Amino acid sequence: MQVLSELPRRSVAFIGSECHPFVKTGGLGDVMYALPRELVRLNCDVRVILPRYACIPQKYQDKMVYRGEFYMDVGNTGRQYYVGIMEYICDGVVYDFIDNQEFFSSGNPYVNLVDDIPKYCFFSKAALAALNFMNWIPDVIHCHDWQAALVPIYLRTLFKNSPVGHAKSILTIHNLRFQGIYNIPTIQYWTGLPNDVFNMGALKQGWEDANMFKGGLAYADRITTVSGTYAQEIQTSEYGEGLEGHLRYHSYKLRGIVNGIDYDMWNPETDPALAVNYGLSTVLEHKMENKLALQKELGLEENQDKFVIGLISRLTNQKGLDLVSAVIPQVMDGNTQVVILGTGDKEFEDTFRYYEGAYKGQFAACIQYDESRAHRIYAGADALLVPSRFEPCGLTQLNAMHYGTLPIVRETGGLKDTVEPYNTFSGDGNGFTFDRYESGLLLDAINRAKTLYFTNRYHWDEVVQRDMAKDVSWEHSAKQYKDLYLELTQW
Ligand code: ADP
Repeated sequence: MQVLSELPRRSVAFIGSECHPFVKTGGLGDVMYALPRELVRLNCDVRVILPRYACIPQKYQDKMVYRGEFYMDVGNTGRQYYVGIMEYICDGVVYDFIDNQEFFSSGNPYVNLVDDIPKYCFFSKAALAALNFMNWIPDVIHCHDWQAALVPIYLRTLFKNSPVGHAKSILTIHNLRFQGIYNIPTIQYWTGLPNDVFNMGALKQGWEDANMFKGGLAYADRITTVSGTYAQEIQTSEYGEGLEGHLRYHSYKLRGIVNGIDYDMWNPETDPALAVNYGLSTVLEHKMENKLALQKELGLEENQDKFVIGLISRLTNQKGLDLVSAVIPQVMDGNTQVVILGTGDKEFEDTFRYYEGAYKGQFAACIQYDESRAHRIYAGADALLVPSRFEPCGLTQLNAMHYGTLPIVRETGGLKDTVEPYNTFSGDGNGFTFDRYESGLLLDAINRAKTLYFTNRYHWDEVVQRDMAKDVSWEHSAKQYKDLYLELTQW
């Protein structure tokens, strides 16, 4: 890896709850993987601190090296807890896994709040204690989502007079929906934080609850979120998840930096999952071959003239799936095929299974999490739907564009910042968009896409090539994070 060593050097610890390829449930896992690697190139010394979940695949567990262990008190439990540090180094990034079987032995990273609250109270403290233990004191500690939101608070309280207490902190909001809210006595018990942080300006929420994300936002030196539009949206009651006032109060330190995608992981020219690899100059012919291979794989009618719409998503209320299910009967016009890949709420899983039965050979519902199938859908589909109710950044539209698949998105959050609507008159744009959360508007956007596809293929192909050439890499975004680190550490 080429490091731009003429740039100023900074050390950064990433603290978060998931990271590809060890454990990933969504976009956070992608960011925790790709951003550190890009920062290494920008002359940062990066350590990523993660829980050592039992569900991390054995091949990575086998590569971890024992780095040390110590015992740490946790909150008001009166007990000393084991903290092991297991290390794995890859492409210049050091991964330190916090080991503790009591907290991290369940099958999934997230179980339920009763288990997750103590788990992440422990993890956040253990991460800071591990930095002190290893005597590796970063310039900046970059924390992610509610699971690591206690870190900025611990830094300025329990760890204030320890070496790591000198570090600056950044808290990034990937998704504000999950905040880590529980009653004050429980959070006090597991954190041991002093009474004065349980005030309305920090951890306290309502009469009796403590909100970990809210407290972290108050204590962090900077707050970032994953797109400029989402940074604005979360200051409104529609998107603020109850924290809009708090975020408006702290807006002076809030900024949006849009995510990128990792070009090593997402590269249609080398992607081993694809039937046929392709680049900008070969996309038009080879995309058809990928489409036929996808149709074959999923048992759809093999016909390259069909317009194939993909959707790759967690099947939850956030993702606009009620709109999708409402328009399917009108979308299925005999010339269109739909491919869904995702797991989640039973209601949506069942709806899509029903459609698969109702539109045999034209509708595929893959109710599963399958990375390599996701790659083949990005390559084989013509368009990809992302009609989210809210979308902090969204990665699927970026993956799609990079694979020459045109996104059809709702104009919210990062979708608005990354997909420029196609303009029929000038031919500009990257995809198809709609604004209000209404199924009629989604259908209208899908129909505009179909019209262009079936009546003006020359212009459609131009957009395909423009999307593939668009820079959606991490390079630009990573530079903005580096600038933020420099801004916080001027000496
Ligand atoms: P979120 O973080 O809200 O889930 P993002 O769009 O930010 O959504 O990131 C989703 C990531 O997870 C993308 O890389 C997407 O390809 C991947 N993904 C989502 N669902 C699946 C699935 N069922 N199988 C494989 N990959 C999936």
